[in-house]
Amino acid sequence: MPSSIPNSPAELADATWPEIEAYYDALASEAPTPATAREWLRQWSLLEELVNEASSQSLIAYTGNTADPEAEARYLRFVTEIQPNAEARQTGLAQLLIDTGITDADIAILLREFRTTVSIFRDANVARFAQIEELSAGYQKLAGGLSVELDGQTLTIPQLQPLLESDDRQARERAFRVGADAYLAHRDEVSDLFEKMYALRQEVARESGFADYQAFAFASKHRYDYTADDVARFHDAVAEVVTPAAARVHAHRRNRLGVETVRPWDLAVDPDGLAPLRPFRDVAEFVATSGRIFTALDPELGARFADMARDGLLDLESRPNKAPGGYCTTLHHRKQPFVFMNAVGVSDDVTTLVHEAGHCFHAYLASDRELIWQRGTGSEAAELASMSMELLAAPYFAMPVGYYTPDQARRAQAAHLEDVLLALPHIASVDAFQRWIYTSGEGHDRDARDAAWLRLRSRFEQGIDWTGLDRERTARWYRQLHIFELPFYYIEYGIAQLGALQVWKRSLTDPAGALAGYKAALELGGTQSLPALYAAAGARLIFDADGMRELVGLVEERLETLRGSTVS
Ligand SMILES: [Zn+2]
Repeated sequence: MPSSIPNSPAELADATWPEIEAYYDALASEAPTPATAREWLRQWSLLEELVNEASSQSLIAYTGNTADPEAEARYLRFVTEIQPNAEARQTGLAQLLIDTGITDADIAILLREFRTTVSIFRDANVARFAQIEELSAGYQKLAGGLSVELDGQTLTIPQLQPLLESDDRQARERAFRVGADAYLAHRDEVSDLFEKMYALRQEVARESGFADYQAFAFASKHRYDYTADDVARFHDAVAEVVTPAAARVHAHRRNRLGVETVRPWDLAVDPDGLAPLRPFRDVAEFVATSGRIFTALDPELGARFADMARDGLLDLESRPNKAPGGYCTTLHHRKQPFVFMNAVGVSDDVTTLVHEAGHCFHAYLASDRELIWQRGTGSEAAELASMSMELLAAPYFAMPVGYYTPDQARRAQAAHLEDVLLALPHIASVDAFQRWIYTSGEGHDRDARDAAWLRLRSRFEQGIDWTGLDRERTARWYRQLHIFELPFYYIEYGIAQLGALQVWKRSLTDPAGALAGYKAALELGGTQSLPALYAAAGARLIFDADGMRELVGLVEERLETLRGSTVS
């Protein structure tokens, strides 16, 4: 190994960008030839492993204690200084590799992605992306800082959630209205921010030679295996098949609640008036129970989860100064993943951990691939790993293995399957709305945007009574951070959910085969095309109504069974 590569991620913990840049300079100065390309690529991959893990460690330290100023400074140096600069240098190195003309079949997927990244890169866009980042931070600050006054109390938006779950309908309505009003009061600021982002994104696209930002996004997200027209078919299929099924979920809720129509503030309360599930008392119990579930599903996956617990790679409990949310990050050099979340003992914690564990198993199973780029996949395959795990682990949620009594386990599974049906119309709304924004020619106009959202939303979301609540319904898109911060990152969840339902369907008749296919797909990492990764898992990319109808029918059948045996 040349001395130009550091020995460990720890050596980079306090490195500045100029210090890290020297490593990129060294790689760039020994430009590869066809004969040296593979060894050069291995060295580059090793550098990326080290920088990536140092960056992940800074994220773990900061999110674990946001009150530690040193941890904050390290984290900010990685995200604002090192990562954006490194990305520009990576594009340069990718160009050097392409210039060698190598066409090795085992890295064909990687070479194709490098070619795209290089071909759409423009120096002039670097400053535009930096401006978009600043605007994103502005949105994050605005949305994160919203508060409401209710009954003499000042509450944050997340603090409204328990009120929305209250069995007092008037309390729910008031909580719903103040939550929507908080966003509506900032309509001008939100719109100003969005219009600046919109203009910059369209400029980025044109600079790179695309007609609009949607076309740019498809290229930059490496969507080689489906087109904007396929995604439009996906929207149509959701409207035809899933929207009516989701409306049936709402109708079931209407009957259970005994109300005339389901209003938007009736969606979070338990329809049978049952107390919330309490799956565990403390994190030790949470880890022990989850470990039993993964072991019952598959001893190898159970062993990997036990490794994480043993090696301090699970930071699960909520505590003061921890950042909100949950994530799984990969420590590429030590070849292990890390899970972060804020568990408080509710059923959502179980869903979060099982989901993140799916990402972890993906990281473990792909960790032996030679190059860092071969160990990761796009979000369509990454979310297939996590969403399939949510469904594959569910049969083990009942005691003595899992958290719940048999009745509680059925109730948790029914809630999960209802969420699956309700999520797809939401995904279609968010994606179709962005398609409209960037391709209609009217996306710069705030009134036209709000009108388009209402039109699309009422196409995809039915069975909820929004009478007199058009403004409140509009506020929903102001809350969807992806539209502001991660444009066009959403349809992946829909594609992956339909993939996961196919893995689940197979598991109902052939559990061993479904699990083997799942693990085989994860082991491939990013070495195959998206359709090939799905095929390994026994699934395909679904954009058509017939494909959705079969899976939605199965979900509804299962829901019937679960409800039939729990209704008292
Ligand atoms: Zn995920």
